[in-house]
Amino acid sequence: MNILILGSGGRESAFAWKIAQSPKCENLFIAPGNAGTGQYGTNINLKVTDFAGIKAFALSNAIDMVLVGPEEPLVKGIHDFFLADDELKGIPVIGPQAEAAQLEGSKDFSKEFMQRNNIPTAASKTFTKDTLQEGFDYLATAGLPVVLKADGLAAGKGVLICLTLEEAKLELAEMLTEAKFGDASSKVVIEQFLTGIELSVFVMTDGTNYKILPEAKDYKRIGEGDTGLNTGGMGSVSPVPFADAEFMAKVEQRVIIPTVEGLKKEGIPYKGFIFIGLMNTEGEPWVIEYNCRMGDPETESVMPRIQSDFVDLLEGVAQGNLNEKEIIISDKVAATVVCVAGGYPGEYLKNKAISGIENVRGSHVFHAGTTLSGEEVLATGGRVLAVTTLQDNMFNALQQATADAARIYYDGVYFRKDIGFDLL
Ligand code: ATP
Repeated sequence: MNILILGSGGRESAFAWKIAQSPKCENLFIAPGNAGTGQYGTNINLKVTDFAGIKAFALSNAIDMVLVGPEEPLVKGIHDFFLADDELKGIPVIGPQAEAAQLEGSKDFSKEFMQRNNIPTAASKTFTKDTLQEGFDYLATAGLPVVLKADGLAAGKGVLICLTLEEAKLELAEMLTEAKFGDASSKVVIEQFLTGIELSVFVMTDGTNYKILPEAKDYKRIGEGDTGLNTGGMGSVSPVPFADAEFMAKVEQRVIIPTVEGLKKEGIPYKGFIFIGLMNTEGEPWVIEYNCRMGDPETESVMPRIQSDFVDLLEGVAQGNLNEKEIIISDKVAATVVCVAGGYPGEYLKNKAISGIENVRGSHVFHAGTTLSGEEVLATGGRVLAVTTLQDNMFNALQQATADAARIYYDGVYFRKDIGFDLL
């Protein structure tokens, strides 16, 4: 098969690494890719939202399958674009159509979906500019802390946890009347605050059948001990010790099955990944969010634990016979430590030459924000590299990934030395 992956981050590097190992993959292309993805396939200089360019490329290179990494092209309807085009409609796209991508693209849509399908989630209500006063009244009864969420995509910044009623009212007003997050906050979901410990569960579905991929925990804050600003993700670990068999059985029964069946019942086709952000509250799962794609940096820890042929599983999604496929998961532990640019997640240093990747021994280095400039690999993005290892036990995995991250150098390099150590 000729496979095209859309995206350029660590997630897409991990997909490319895994897909390149499949005997079913003849030619692999990554658009646009990064300085590392060229080791697994051919980078194509196309933006993930350049649908016309993607069409031309897919047709002239006999692409048999498109795997979409990030949410943006999904929310913008890349899958629908393929289905609506006579020349493209025979090429399966892995990733949901725009309507289903609303599970991620609109928090109001996803909350209503969960409520309709009795999926455990925090109590909530949605307000607009016209119902601001009702929003204030709701806040007064909601308890503290309270969570305000911009309805639309806000690059992970649209969620505010307010500790006082005054702060919550001020923020709600700013979001609704002053477009604090632009169009994304023209609707705001006010949600009950949940306490517990978070994890990510990943499901692959063909719309009827599903497979549960390895779960993972990610680390969002820039600082050690989970302090400081939120980032795209500083590291991840899989498996998650507190997601034991009993907890995962509850997740499957109460969340995964009702989600897949709910989509089907509501006539919303879904072929792709469902990323379920969960809170484990004293052993009970509560859904915080859905995403319509895999997580980054979770994918870097999930892919190495999948022992089955990943292309075979993707074919199952495309053909609707995922039930006939087998997923074999390693019981080893994967850990990922992300090296970021100096200054990230604020203004950060760019175009710094990277050295030391060749000194990494026990880990695999997935590139993220990197670019080739002649012979040099430059750090050009906020999240630069993801250092992943697979080891027999948690301690060795955490120690190895952290030690290998320290072997990499570029001006301003930073990584957290505590990824996963809270789980020991
Ligand atoms: P992401 O960047 O992960 O996609 P997002 O902007 O889509 O995030 P959410 O995942 O819904 O938004 O929320 C971001 C973070 O806020 C969560 O990871 C969680 O830590 C916290 N959070 C969200 N909802 C709640 C809640 N009801 N109770 C407690 N914390 C919450």
